[in-house]
Amino acid sequence: MQKKEFKSESKRLMDLMVHSIYTHKEIFLRELISNASDAIDKVYYKTLTDTDKTFNKEDYYIRITPDKEKRILVIEDTGIGMTEQELEDNLGTIAKSGSLDFKKGQEMDEEFDIIGQFGVGFYSAFMVADKVTVETKAVDSETAYCWVSEGTDGYTIEASQKEGHGTKITLEIKANTEDNEYDEYLESYRLRQLVEHYSNYIRYPIKMLSEKTRLKEGSDPENPEYESYQEDEVLNSMVPIWRKNKNELTEEDYKNFYHEKRFGYEEPLGYMHMNIEGMLSYKAILYIPGNAPYDYYSRDYEKGLELFSNGVLIMEKCGELLPDYFSFVKGVVDSEDLSLNISREMLQQDRQLKMISKKIDSKIAEELKKMLEDDREKYEKFFAAFGNQLKVGTYDNWGQNKDKLQDFLLFYSSKEEKLVTLKEYTDRMPEDQKYIYYASGLSVESLDKLPQVSIIKDKGYELLYLTDHIDEFVIQMIRTYADKEFRNVSSDDLGLDESEESKKDQTLTKDEEAMMDEMKSLIGEEVVKVKTTTHLKDDAAYLSTEGDLSIEMEKTLNVMGTGEQAKAKKVLEINKNHPVYEKLKGFYNQDQEQFKLYTQVLYNQARLIAGLPIEDVVSFTQNISKLM
Ligand code: ADP
Repeated sequence: MQKKEFKSESKRLMDLMVHSIYTHKEIFLRELISNASDAIDKVYYKTLTDTDKTFNKEDYYIRITPDKEKRILVIEDTGIGMTEQELEDNLGTIAKSGSLDFKKGQEMDEEFDIIGQFGVGFYSAFMVADKVTVETKAVDSETAYCWVSEGTDGYTIEASQKEGHGTKITLEIKANTEDNEYDEYLESYRLRQLVEHYSNYIRYPIKMLSEKTRLKEGSDPENPEYESYQEDEVLNSMVPIWRKNKNELTEEDYKNFYHEKRFGYEEPLGYMHMNIEGMLSYKAILYIPGNAPYDYYSRDYEKGLELFSNGVLIMEKCGELLPDYFSFVKGVVDSEDLSLNISREMLQQDRQLKMISKKIDSKIAEELKKMLEDDREKYEKFFAAFGNQLKVGTYDNWGQNKDKLQDFLLFYSSKEEKLVTLKEYTDRMPEDQKYIYYASGLSVESLDKLPQVSIIKDKGYELLYLTDHIDEFVIQMIRTYADKEFRNVSSDDLGLDESEESKKDQTLTKDEEAMMDEMKSLIGEEVVKVKTTTHLKDDAAYLSTEGDLSIEMEKTLNVMGTGEQAKAKKVLEINKNHPVYEKLKGFYNQDQEQFKLYTQVLYNQARLIAGLPIEDVVSFTQNISKLM
């Protein structure tokens, strides 16, 4: 019999399969089962369109039979089968040509990744088998045909015998190697696992004969005898939970499914069941997990939803379905309108996935909004787990998504002494308050003691305490909320309405101005300016900043080590109403030594309040002692 060569593209794919180092070789089973299911779908369609046929449910199934001794695994279906020409066309060449074009010139690794993501159909059988035999008989045909291949060097097709229509694929499983245990594909328990995992929701029963034990008939109850027998077992559940009607399902059902899928170990905080009909129909069940996975905030975390095409798992983590800011969401999406081999119609599918992801995006937003409004306690739990991701999302991509996300953020309020939204803050702002004030630092306790904070509090205004490193960057990205700008309390301009009285207070004599300049030059480049303030109460001095970069941001950026040293434009503000100010004035011109000493101590005190290190701690404490 003459051996035929594979078409070049198929040969290439075959080569990839035979020599695959891909770690999830088990997906071959999913691929073959999916093909079988498609083949049954086609018969089903025929019975719907041909009036002389009826679809008898019991006649349609997929059967898996392992044989350990012979090292073979058989997968058969009662589907449409293939004619000789179809065998030639379908298995001798890749049906949709051009699918491998975009892979040319790429590294092997990337190609294997494509296998992992999409599967590559029938040829994946060669990842686990040395020899593949396909016996098939088309519906309405008298003759059966047999296709055999041992890999890259070609295949044969000849007429053969087969009862009934359908396809029977026999895999001669490879011998174990150092890296691969092929034996597992001959074990019933493993095959059952694989079907449950990858093909649970196939619409037709996937059967396997399983070994059972029973009491022998007529055996003496005193001295029971047992016999083993074989019984058909259906391995798949056939009806996926998302295909069920919402009102058929209880909260318990959704929770069970969540745990079955291992989406998280704590109870989910919310779930959504979507049933979209239209040009692109799909169903989805989505969860907001109760806890962040241990690797959530690490680079290892991979977002994505399980993607099914008509009940067949085609991707375990389809990242395209979730925006980064909702990357914590888990769940499944099933669409009849997606093809099994997504990679083959990349662009087309891309558009479909985008449509789905857009809907999912707004569905999640809706769910979170509901939680925020109806169950604050739950929302706070959610925010503790995933709030940071929302903050990152608000900041990322130059704030592209800030309008969508800013209302989901919570910050600690000085007034409420709990987490509040920006809306809650601005809704209760007094008429005369121009800015949304915030203070940024390590903890609520330390911020509450800041001199600048009491200035705002004394005005009766509310402050937001930002204690996460990213907070201030987020706030600066948002820029304005409800037409109000944000203002850091450590800014050198708090934007408060100054009374005529205090304005007068602020005017300095020529001599005082010269004194400020002198202090600035004594301190040097570390500050951009020294000026007076009348806002402070007990403190003699503090550090404010000019411009957008605050001291807290400077600290964060420098810890992150972005290369360049970040430096906030610091302004030393001296309390004009403090007794120290009069002393300073006294020393200025008269006692240069004391003036220098006072300046150094005031500046270093201000650094301490701002949480900044002091360069020369020893001389600072010595200076304090001198003053004492
Ligand atoms: P795909 O399923 O993406 O088309 P495959 O390489 O898996 O790619 O299969 C190629 C073709 O072979 C299928 O489109 C189908 O026409 C045919 N085929 C594969 N398996 C079967 C089967 N069990 N029964 C009938 N036809 C099959």
